[in-house]
Amino acid sequence: MARDPRFDLLFEPVEIGPVTAPNRFYQVPHCTGMGYRRPNSVAALRGVKAEGGWGTVCTEYCSIHPSSDDEPYPSASIWDDGDIRAMSLTVDKIHEHGALAGIELWHGGAASANNYTREVPLGPYSMLAGVYDPLQTKAMDKSDIKDLKRWHLEAARRAKRAGFDIVYVYAAHWYLIHQFLLPSNRRTDEYGGSVENRARLLKELIIETKEEIGDTCAVAVRFSASTGGEDDDQNTTEPREMLELLGDLPDLWDITVHDYSYEMGTSRFVPEAGLEKTMSWVKSVTDKPVVSVGRFTSPETMLRLVRQGVIDLIGAARPSIADPFLPMKIAEGRQDEIRECIGCNICYTGDQTGTPIRCTQNPTMGEEWRKGWHPEYIPEKGSESSVLIVGGGPAGLEAALALGQRGYEVALTEARRELGGRVTLESRLPGLEEWVRVRDWRLTMIGKLKNVDYYLESEIDEDQILEYGADHVVIATGAKWRHDGVGRWHAQPISGWESTRVITPDDILAGFQPEGPVVVYDDDHYYIGGVIAELLRRDGLDVTLVTPANEISTWTRHTEEQYRIQQRIVELEIPIETCMALARVTADHAVLGSIYTGRTKEIEAATVVMITSRAPQDALYHSLAGQIAIDRIGDCLNPGTIATAVYSGHKFARELDASVPVPFLRDSRVV
Ligand code: ADP
Ligand code: SF4
Repeated sequence: MARDPRFDLLFEPVEIGPVTAPNRFYQVPHCTGMGYRRPNSVAALRGVKAEGGWGTVCTEYCSIHPSSDDEPYPSASIWDDGDIRAMSLTVDKIHEHGALAGIELWHGGAASANNYTREVPLGPYSMLAGVYDPLQTKAMDKSDIKDLKRWHLEAARRAKRAGFDIVYVYAAHWYLIHQFLLPSNRRTDEYGGSVENRARLLKELIIETKEEIGDTCAVAVRFSASTGGEDDDQNTTEPREMLELLGDLPDLWDITVHDYSYEMGTSRFVPEAGLEKTMSWVKSVTDKPVVSVGRFTSPETMLRLVRQGVIDLIGAARPSIADPFLPMKIAEGRQDEIRECIGCNICYTGDQTGTPIRCTQNPTMGEEWRKGWHPEYIPEKGSESSVLIVGGGPAGLEAALALGQRGYEVALTEARRELGGRVTLESRLPGLEEWVRVRDWRLTMIGKLKNVDYYLESEIDEDQILEYGADHVVIATGAKWRHDGVGRWHAQPISGWESTRVITPDDILAGFQPEGPVVVYDDDHYYIGGVIAELLRRDGLDVTLVTPANEISTWTRHTEEQYRIQQRIVELEIPIETCMALARVTADHAVLGSIYTGRTKEIEAATVVMITSRAPQDALYHSLAGQIAIDRIGDCLNPGTIATAVYSGHKFARELDASVPVPFLRDSRVV
């Protein structure tokens, strides 16, 4: 199909200093949880983005010196010649497809505790380092500043030798250069105090980097357009003064905001183009091209922002993770095939846990090298087998799609009137609307296949499965929340759990309206406890949120949401009981016990919502295993995230009849 000419603007080349981006699609620096530890994996990942049409593809934050070490979070590094070889793997993969390669040179300053290198952390003044690490930075003296500038130039030279086209001076996200920019920098020399003084280090770094490598490489600056996160004009005053001061010095401004949880906020809290108001002034104070992010998945939004002169380049991290081929799909008039990011931030959990990136929407993300998975191409079927899939949740749908794309004859039966399983149900909870894209994209793509049929309101049992006679049966029947309280804290059922007043999220998702007051007991620690509490409170019920953890929804620290979730719960005046386990349920109370002392406390409760663990719905599998070729996938195999279910469905589809087993290559540094 031909491209809609309205979108031609998005495919115009953009001059960035001495280099030219072939189009406006710009993958901004984003972490992968791979960094220097997995050079082959990260090179393949970036290469796939370039192949998919991103005109510029950048690295993740790349340490310039051992005094900037973020372990256990795996950054890239360009400390020595070994790093040049590793980084040039990435450059080559990007260049293969005609894209520009950008490198984000990074010094963490006080953000780096240097737990791996044991180098002394550096800062504009003696300040606490790392995240709750019991150590402080050395206040940088003039010779430290001189060293920093030398390290930066040496790193820039190495970047040029590795073949990069764009070299960043990274002045955002509370890393070293940003620490100099902030008002908290009250140094009394020429690098602190006034706006001009605080901006001096950045200014010198831009000028010196340009002098050093600016003949062939563009110099980009990543900069915060606000000192806050929300659309608060007051927060932009100082950044504006600084940007006016630096104006046209760099070749490109990569604009972000100070608050990570807003900049890369989940869709529950931040809409598409969320940074627009905060940064729309930037182009009025510089003639240099501007790139910024906003979880852009709509070509219309991209077009509008370029037309209105807000940005020149469409910055994207998550949209390029969910769909590395997004630009190509627009170029080929296949907008309906864009696999839109749902804004869940599962991709960020890789970096946060020191493990390779994964994505809810794109099961191939992070698997490009170690498994050889490509987001758009999948090997043809290995036999003429037919496949029956039972259950149309994210696992069943992904398996049906991927098997269908391989050419198998696929039938999927779903008990309910609509497909999507937990995704359809949960997307009706407050703030989770975008999650339905997991279902909708798969339905769109399945709709293009003649060899995949699905049947709604078709709950199937063992006899019917046998009667159907498919060569392979895949059970994708999901999981149900347990009523009995068995979870992380309790290995045995809680006394009183059999009461009809004890319900689970499944009951609420099925439309059950509980009576208040309600105790929501969250021993799951991800999003569902907070969302259910919010829903019931908005319905006007008195709700108390109880958890054995130190804070609510604690795992959402990895999705950069915990603060916002707790803030919302507090704003909704939902009392929070932390470090308390549900001890028992009585006639009209929930009895809580302190996890430290066992001391109990009673809370009036007409309803208790039990959110602990889930029971796989695997009865069909067990009754047929051994009789026919049968497998289980998704929550029915092991309850987990939606990302886990999608991955499980995809993996099954890839492995069916595979003549060569799906590899799991282990990556190591190239020396
Ligand atoms: P997953 O996340 O693993 O995909 P879900 O719970 O989201 O699991 O989806 C499971 C789906 O399976 C639900 O839509 C449910 O209605 C469906 N299902 C469960 N049992 C049967 C059955 N016997 N026949 C057909 N569909 C079923
Ligand atoms: Fe988007 Fe979620 Fe994928 Fe991240 S994991 S790219 S937020 S869909």
